[in-house]
Amino acid sequence: SLYNMVQDLKGNIRVYCRIRPSFNCSSKDVIEFIGEDGSLMLLDPLKPKKYGRKVFRFNRVFGPAAKQDDVFKDIQPLIRSVMDGYNVCVFAYGQTGSGKTHTMNGPSGGADKDFGINYLALNDLFQIQNVRKDIDYEINVQMVEIYNEQVRDLLVAESSITKLEIRSCTSDTGLSLPDATRHSVKSTADVLNLIKLGELNRAVSFTSMNNQSSRSHSILTVYVHGKDNSGSSIRSCLHLVDLAGSERIDKSEVTGDRLKEAQYINKSLSCLGDVIMALAQKNSHIPYRNSKLTLLLQDSLGGHAKTVMFAHVSPEEDSFSETLSTLKFAQNVS
Ligand code: ADP
Ligand code: MG
Repeated sequence: SLYNMVQDLKGNIRVYCRIRPSFNCSSKDVIEFIGEDGSLMLLDPLKPKKYGRKVFRFNRVFGPAAKQDDVFKDIQPLIRSVMDGYNVCVFAYGQTGSGKTHTMNGPSGGADKDFGINYLALNDLFQIQNVRKDIDYEINVQMVEIYNEQVRDLLVAESSITKLEIRSCTSDTGLSLPDATRHSVKSTADVLNLIKLGELNRAVSFTSMNNQSSRSHSILTVYVHGKDNSGSSIRSCLHLVDLAGSERIDKSEVTGDRLKEAQYINKSLSCLGDVIMALAQKNSHIPYRNSKLTLLLQDSLGGHAKTVMFAHVSPEEDSFSETLSTLKFAQNVS
């Protein structure tokens, strides 16, 4: 289809926008959701309606009523391609409180329903594993976080969390974190337990917006190894990335560790934007080495790999400037 052709030309990068439901009934929403064609309109609350409108366009926009399943269905073919040997990255981008963890993991509080992409993707991969009798699949997961440009294993007992070295590796496994633990998984129950441990270990610290705000990038990686009876094998991986909050920090308000954190986050998110933009423009130089995040994901960004970015926005008036900056970032990389 034409859609697929356009996708090919863009190097397999898709950018979606997801708008979470409004929490504040007394605030006017700044987004007019348009929908079907992937566009939305942002209204500047400080300008007269006529002048304050700005239209943004994405591969698709998911409005506040979109369900987890709606979101998953759209990327399901991509997720399935992992079982055919493709590497895939899914990113959740946006300010703190915009719904990144909701999309990837599910509702806050760890309710055992309304699962996010992490669970739905693994569930789907297990189903394929069970159906395809001609291929013997082995599925392993790893979960790490990048905090202040240091990589840490999230699937170990807290006391043994250590800094991991990223090593360029020439073996066919594409391993770049040889010391991170990998856990064999056979069912979604295995996966849920591991994700719970990972979320517990994930660094959290206080910000003015959300005292549970994650200031780290968390990366759940699913390694797939398939062998058929002729002896040939495929190796691929799926990276499910819940990025640190993209909000800009007022330098006059934070100092010390908080300022350092914010600077590391800003730098790595802008490096990620630079890499995706360079890939979309088919530049000859892709600046992977400018951040740990892009270095770590290098094998899964570009080439035949497929990338999906979910740009999350909050609809409330007081989030206007962060929403504007998220939409600009996402439009730039699409
Ligand atoms: P982030 O990870 O970007 O900081 P969260 O995923 O924690 O944001 O979302 C903030 C709050 O909003 C949570 O309580 C979450 O459950 C809720 N939320 C986010 N997106 C949605 C959605 N699409 N539908 C319902 N609730 C949502
Ligand atoms: Mg979160």
